[in-house]
Amino acid sequence: MKTIYFDNNATTKVAEEVFEEMKPLFCELYGNPSSMHTFGGQIGRRIRKAREQVAALISCEPSEIIFTSCGTESDNTAIRGTLAAYPNKRKIITTRVEHPAVLAVCREQENHGYTVVELGVDDKGRLDLAQLEKELDDDTALVTIMYANNETGVVFPIDEIAGLVTGRGVVFHTDAVQAVGKIALDLSNSNIDLLSVSGHKIHGPKGVGVLYVRKGTRLAPFMLGGHQESGRRAGTENVPGIVGLGKACELAAENIVQENERVGCLRDKLESAILGSCPDSRLNGDKENRLPNTTNISFEYIEGEAILLMLDKFGICASSGSACTSGSLEPSHVLRAMGVPFTAAHGSIRFSLSRYNTEEEVDCTIEKTPEIVNKLRKLSPFVAS
Ligand code: PLP
Repeated sequence: MKTIYFDNNATTKVAEEVFEEMKPLFCELYGNPSSMHTFGGQIGRRIRKAREQVAALISCEPSEIIFTSCGTESDNTAIRGTLAAYPNKRKIITTRVEHPAVLAVCREQENHGYTVVELGVDDKGRLDLAQLEKELDDDTALVTIMYANNETGVVFPIDEIAGLVTGRGVVFHTDAVQAVGKIALDLSNSNIDLLSVSGHKIHGPKGVGVLYVRKGTRLAPFMLGGHQESGRRAGTENVPGIVGLGKACELAAENIVQENERVGCLRDKLESAILGSCPDSRLNGDKENRLPNTTNISFEYIEGEAILLMLDKFGICASSGSACTSGSLEPSHVLRAMGVPFTAAHGSIRFSLSRYNTEEEVDCTIEKTPEIVNKLRKLSPFVAS
């Protein structure tokens, strides 16, 4: 059975071109880029090239790129590094819908005397910028607001938000892990101070990420040790990962407009067919301001996990909006923040597409989903007979 992979917000296939670029870095060019010898020196050149490739995708200077081990490390570094750089400020502003890589770190700071303000969202997942403006004060060290939501695909107006924050002595960080490669970013022309990227969300390898640090932004290093990354992130570089991420960024830059248009059409077809064929289903999120690859749909009266298991029988990989961590059946914090009713939040499914998805895959999912939903509803104790 062929796998139909619609879980690209969780992780993506490594592009063949990326894999080819990485291969020599394992057994042939394995030197340490910090070594004095020529063998190590050529590895340093590969890292410099990757830094340029990343910088080209997000339109910044290569010197503003720090390689990390993942999006989570980039987020942790941005938050902890900013607080350490501004020890006299005690307030952080974030949102209720952030990824745990941001939310858990912010919440932990409450144990260290920080005030953490979590901005709410409306029923479409949109932020109230007036509330943000009201909360900004002299005690605020950091505003950290994601670019695009991993569960719903909702895109926040980040340039507008950065414009509100700038000039007040507050650092602005955005977790752009889901946005990079799906939205064209131009950091040369923005007020964003810090921005997180993850390799494995853009057809690069796992275990590598980037933190963009705008020139002049104060940030204490999170990892201490050697002098790698100009003293901003210690640890011997994951050279194959960095080289792979560079290539993935080059590919994303080449294809960003055409691919996102094509993926957006496939997503729209999938979404409208499912909503049209499944009664008591609803879209979660802001249709106007969304990533082109993501749709999050709730099916009343049935469990998202049950739908996932049945989709899986046909080789269709999607994800449940309710993060069922360690046996808890709590619905997703994102959908809860949006006020999605409990019964709908429990039955939510996220389909997230990539440039490798085809129309046939969409058609197959359009055929199978209503069958599955009908079958489960027949078994559901919540459906009125
Ligand atoms: N931020 C967002 C919005 C994400 O979707 C993810 C991963 O799902 C992360 C951060 C964490 O990235 P990584 O898996 O590279 O640590």
